[in-house]
Amino acid sequence: MKKDTHPAYEAVNVHCSCGNKFKVRSTGKDIHLDVCSECHPFYTGKQKMVDTAGRVEGFKQKYAFLSSTLGKVSSETSEEAGKS
Ligand SMILES: [Zn+2]
Repeated sequence: MKKDTHPAYEAVNVHCSCGNKFKVRSTGKDIHLDVCSECHPFYTGKQKMVDTAGRVEGFKQKYAFLSSTLGKVSSETSEEAGKS
């Protein structure tokens, strides 16, 4: 190997958002993951909502008024259907 041309290839810590930690060798620094082999549905076999950016919560908040109005409408229509 040539001298002074190869970056340092050392063990770095990998942190997953599920709390799992392991080490790999890399030329970079520590790595932060959203999903790893310990928590990815492909490996766990369980369906899981991966929502690190809070997008699902944001969507629910944005359209919360819709669910309340739709709930009213459906209850009103069902009451009317019961009368007739
Ligand atoms: Zn993980």
